Amino acid sequence: MDKIAQLKQWIKESSRIVFFGGAGVSTESGIPDFRSTDGLYNQQYQYPPETILSHSFFIKNPEEFYKFYRNKMIAAGAKPNKAHLALVKLEQEGKLQAVITQNIDGLHQEAGSQNVLELHGCVKRNFCTRCGKSYDLQMVAESQRVPKCSCGGIVKPDVVLYEEGLDSQILEKSVYYISHADLLIVGGTSLTVYPAAGLVDYCRGRLALINKDATPLDGQADLVINGKIGEVLGEACSL
Ligand code: NAD
Ligand code: ZN
Repeated sequence: MDKIAQLKQWIKESSRIVFFGGAGVSTESGIPDFRSTDGLYNQQYQYPPETILSHSFFIKNPEEFYKFYRNKMIAAGAKPNKAHLALVKLEQEGKLQAVITQNIDGLHQEAGSQNVLELHGCVKRNFCTRCGKSYDLQMVAESQRVPKCSCGGIVKPDVVLYEEGLDSQILEKSVYYISHADLLIVGGTSLTVYPAAGLVDYCRGRLALINKDATPLDGQADLVINGKIGEVLGEACSL
């Protein structure tokens, strides 16, 4: 049986599927990932993305942070692709229990997924660091230099920056879903960003990995499919 047919069969046999994904899920929507585009960042910016997207950098140099953030992290006009839509279908069929994502683009919800756990937050939510007032993506996208609240405070996106901790409730829920899954599909992630990547260790059911490149956890998986996730999931879910 070929690998996609195998995945299709496992999906058929499972009722507690959980999906865990990363930036590679959105590349087919035109949003660049990190590991494939480091070179590009280095050409245009003085610091690597991990430095610019860190808490201390945001505090020390918000203008440089926002220059990068507005340019690279906000994906204006991006639309969900087949990977997002396949997961919506599985949830609607009552087979998929949760989508756990490292992405901050909000595309799973835009596609129609209901139970989405955002480990790293979302660019669509922003708040004032002084008074807590909320702002939408448009306000930040259209801001010049550093977006400021009406109270004068700096507006910060609701995304988890490097050096910041993850929301413990979201992490706990993710552990719960993964440890109760009969099939964990992991896709579009280099599995190098911790603690998120460590979640895979809680899997006790079947583990299927879909990624363009090899990952450090390939040896742990029951099935490894090296391909484009939109195409693979699209075919496995008969989209
Ligand atoms: P990563 O950039 O480290 O790795 C992406 C992986 O996806 C790579 O291994 C690559 O081979 C694979 N990939 C790329 N396109 C693919 C496709 N079409 N099909 C299958 N695989 C594909 O991403 P990561 O592991 O998610 O870690 C990066 C961090 O950066 C995350 O924490 C995330 O929050 C953030 N990030 C988010 C976005 C987004 O929200 N869309 C974009 C860039 C970075
Ligand atoms: Zn304010």
